[in-house]
Amino acid sequence: MNTKVIDGKAHARAVREALRPRVDALKSRGVVPGLGVVLVGDNPASRAYVRSKGRACAEVGLHSEQYDLQPTASEAEVLERVHALNADARIHGIMVQLPLPEHVRVERVIDAISLAKDVDGFHPQNVGLLATGHPNLVPCTPAGVVVMLEREGIDLQGRHAVIVGRSNIVGKPMAMLLLQKNATVTICHSKSRALAALTRQADVLVAAVGRAKFIGGDMVREGAVVIDVGINRLPDGKLAGDVDYASVLGRASHATPVPGGVGPMTIAMLLANTVYAAERIAGKMGSE
Ligand code: NDP
Repeated sequence: MNTKVIDGKAHARAVREALRPRVDALKSRGVVPGLGVVLVGDNPASRAYVRSKGRACAEVGLHSEQYDLQPTASEAEVLERVHALNADARIHGIMVQLPLPEHVRVERVIDAISLAKDVDGFHPQNVGLLATGHPNLVPCTPAGVVVMLEREGIDLQGRHAVIVGRSNIVGKPMAMLLLQKNATVTICHSKSRALAALTRQADVLVAAVGRAKFIGGDMVREGAVVIDVGINRLPDGKLAGDVDYASVLGRASHATPVPGGVGPMTIAMLLANTVYAAERIAGKMGSE
């Protein structure tokens, strides 16, 4: 079987292009959508992500501000920064880069982000809205996966989607979004028995495990769509996904590469969420 390689960069570009008229419309009303990014510590991967988010904002005409806090910054300092961004009228989206140092409780920080500016969609109230079928701001990575599948013309209705990974940032919201698209959803995790027997049932297989090349071709049904969320750094410095890409080529109907698959879409969705948040906030101001 000829596997179609899904070009995440091209999809991300199209998503960004579609934002331009919306950004222009906001600007004509005097609103420049703004993203505030908080980085705590000096994790090199986090630094690189934050840099690319800032660049992507500039590309579509969004204002962005980055706040670098020391690795020793206290929880109170992080919360103070979030509160300041909540109150800042130039900022419509707030993202706190994860992971946070151990002494800072991630739940406390996420809870502090204003619901209207929660462009990562991690606030418990946004999580609840998604789970009850009324999505507002939705986590960027799974949202990007769904947009990419739709743009590829892959019908999800009634198909079996199997997700490996149940984190709050990828696996669980991915399941909720696929369920909303009327897929039949199975979520697997480290305690799942007979994992390969489950993954082989997938029409759409989403890998969000955090282990390089964990999903081999033998775990994939012929003709399945394989979405690789994983980003793992190999000892030689190269990036690898959670899927053993070479072994699924020729077996899957579609597959996302790493890099160049889900990653660029995640950033594009962050921009989309920021524009959406700005529209909502500006709309509310306009109707006051
Ligand atoms: P987490 O470590 O939070 O979650 C990993 C999940 O995989 C857990 O649910 C865990 O199960 C499960 N798992 C671990 N080992 C196994 C196993 N042997 N068999 C079955 N399941 C297993 O990771 P994230 O969800 O945050 O991220 C997953 C990957 O996606 C990472 O590589 C990360 O870098 C990448 N990522 C990429 C993004 C992008 O933009 N492309 C954005 C976010 C993340 P259990 O719950 O039982 O421990």
